[in-house]
Amino acid sequence: DKKYLMIPGPTPVPPTVVAAMSQPLIGHRSDDFAKLHEQIVGKLKKVLQTNNDIFVLTNSGTGSLETAIANTVNPGDKVLALITGNFGERFANIAKAYGAKVDEVDFGWGNDVDLKVVEEKLAADSGYKVVLATQNETSTGVKNDIAGIAALVSKTPALLLVDGVSGIGAIEHKTDEWGVDILCTASQKALMLPPGLSVITVSEKAWRVVNDNQSPRFYFSLPAAKKVYDKWNTAYTPGVSMFLGMDAALDMMLAEGMDNVYARHALLAKATRAAAKALGLKLLSEDRCASNALTAVWSPEGIGADDIRKVLKKQYGITFAGGQGKLKGKIFRIAHMGFSDKMDIMIAISALEMALAQVGYSVELGTGVKAAQEVFLGKV
Ligand code: PMP
Repeated sequence: DKKYLMIPGPTPVPPTVVAAMSQPLIGHRSDDFAKLHEQIVGKLKKVLQTNNDIFVLTNSGTGSLETAIANTVNPGDKVLALITGNFGERFANIAKAYGAKVDEVDFGWGNDVDLKVVEEKLAADSGYKVVLATQNETSTGVKNDIAGIAALVSKTPALLLVDGVSGIGAIEHKTDEWGVDILCTASQKALMLPPGLSVITVSEKAWRVVNDNQSPRFYFSLPAAKKVYDKWNTAYTPGVSMFLGMDAALDMMLAEGMDNVYARHALLAKATRAAAKALGLKLLSEDRCASNALTAVWSPEGIGADDIRKVLKKQYGITFAGGQGKLKGKIFRIAHMGFSDKMDIMIAISALEMALAQVGYSVELGTGVKAAQEVFLGKV
């Protein structure tokens, strides 16, 4: 059966990237690997819009989040966590695991970070060492205003740590212009790779904190990574095949042009949202803060989201993601990030219409498909 993976990570990997990953292995202390590593860092600088230090780590996205925390947070430090869903909570939990006093501000699932609240928090307490934010909250399909948050945090001594795991490559992120101190992302989302690598950037302002930090760190030590970077490339044995794939994936993105990559994601999100609305479905996020990487949709009244997902999977080979935590069974999430284009959306929406009809939701077939087509033809 033909399968369509439409979850927010792992996402489909382009054949060119798969081919690059199946090249013969090279030693990681060879000139060839050193060159590959240098190329990748150069390409990442363009994608992430930064001249800060960049480290490609062999671990999943959470590894980069833990690296960010382990290198900036000591027990008792004050941390401001801006939470808009499951992944904002996770970032806060990592800080707690390192003994921080975490001030958790929960903006409610489906909402974005309210800049006024951030401004008030920073004005009321000048003691925050670190502020945590999520660029793209995968659990709710909400995009946060990192530029706005960074403008507030950069006026204070605090560092801004951003979880860009599911947004980088789908939503533009101006690391240096905005003043993001540490940006974390991972391979298996909009970067079009399998899971296994994460990326972290470190600003000058961050290094001053990182170099003095006292928390235990070994595999996740940024000073150790920097030392080896200057001498070789990566500490320990990197995921060599994944690096070969990353080089190819970054080439694809840069060849398309980052503006085009972001415009494609915006178009796919627009079509998906238009289709869901045309089918009478409610979306978790307002258009204003809607993610271009994925769309989270409420299941219709009285119908379990997982029943819809079961039909989609069994009869059409399509996997949508379900809800996490308190949203379990209530929502489904359609990813349109990375190696995704117009016809992926057409497949997703036409199958969704059939599945809705099959679980007893009254739907006029073709309504969602038409709405998406109209977006693609530029009619709306
Ligand atoms: N943050 C965000 C925003 C994510 O979407 C994810 C993965 N869904 C993670 C962190 C965790 O990444 P990983 O599963 O690769 O550790």
